Amino acid sequence: MSISDEDVAGAGRFAPSPSGDLHLGNLRTAVLAWLFARSTNRRFLVRVEDLDRVRPGAEQRQLADLEALGLVWDDRVVHQSRRTRLYDEAIDRLHDAGLTYECYCTRREILEATSAPHAPAGAYPGTCRDLTEAQRAEKRESGRAPAIRLRATEEWYTIHDLLHGDFTGIVDDLVLRRNDGKPAYNLAVVVDDAAQGIDQVVRGDDLLTSAPRQAYLAHLLGLPVPVYAHVPLALNAEGKRLAKRDGAVTMADRIALGDTPADVLGTIAVSLRLADPGEPVSMQLLLDRWNPVRLPRDPWVFVPS
Ligand code: GLU
Repeated sequence: MSISDEDVAGAGRFAPSPSGDLHLGNLRTAVLAWLFARSTNRRFLVRVEDLDRVRPGAEQRQLADLEALGLVWDDRVVHQSRRTRLYDEAIDRLHDAGLTYECYCTRREILEATSAPHAPAGAYPGTCRDLTEAQRAEKRESGRAPAIRLRATEEWYTIHDLLHGDFTGIVDDLVLRRNDGKPAYNLAVVVDDAAQGIDQVVRGDDLLTSAPRQAYLAHLLGLPVPVYAHVPLALNAEGKRLAKRDGAVTMADRIALGDTPADVLGTIAVSLRLADPGEPVSMQLLLDRWNPVRLPRDPWVFVPS
């Protein structure tokens, strides 16, 4: 099996949300995204996904941590909060094609409807899809601001992932614009990846189930669908997703314990089976040794010392 596609000169990316410091699992994903991109002669871009949950100072620390690892990116860092015109245009296009509708449901209403027996797991139940104009006017009068949803014409969509093969996932009437007026993540990510010439998406495998929706959206917008590689996450000793409460898991935590950034990269390299414990490493060395076929497919269990 081949899991590389070498004949292209597009771009890969790392797209952190500046909601806090990156932990070792996030840094490992960034290293992997860089390795996948550079080993296929792609450019590597960083995009700050700051449409919500911004913690002051987090972006600067995240970028400084990437730099400390020796991870170099191309071009200027892009911020989603400065690109809302692009997202508005995409929503307008879908609207003009009759592919949107207003949704007045609260989170709780959706939860109640989707927990009914026989409801498709995780999908929006379609409550507002076929409201009459009179019903919509009534909802509007109640004062609740609507979200804008996609009027999906498919229930399932299949993507190809370099690690997971063909993956078919649910496409539902996903939110394009939230009811606070902000563009939704699924829309922004699709618009940005295409606008930035990103044709390779490497990210944590918690987002694998979002990829079919995003690829479907790209298809509807006439945008190219990227190559995906959803990489294993880092877990704690209990097998749960690694989090800051698990102890010394950020670059700052590790440095406070006496590690250097190179030691942190070494820890990540060992987890990727690209180095032996204690061996000095650099991003270039990891690139020289990189072979995606040998990437461990199981989650990385990290127990901070
Ligand atoms: N901003 C997302 C996150 O930090 C990643 C989105 C993506 O890579 O598509 O989880």
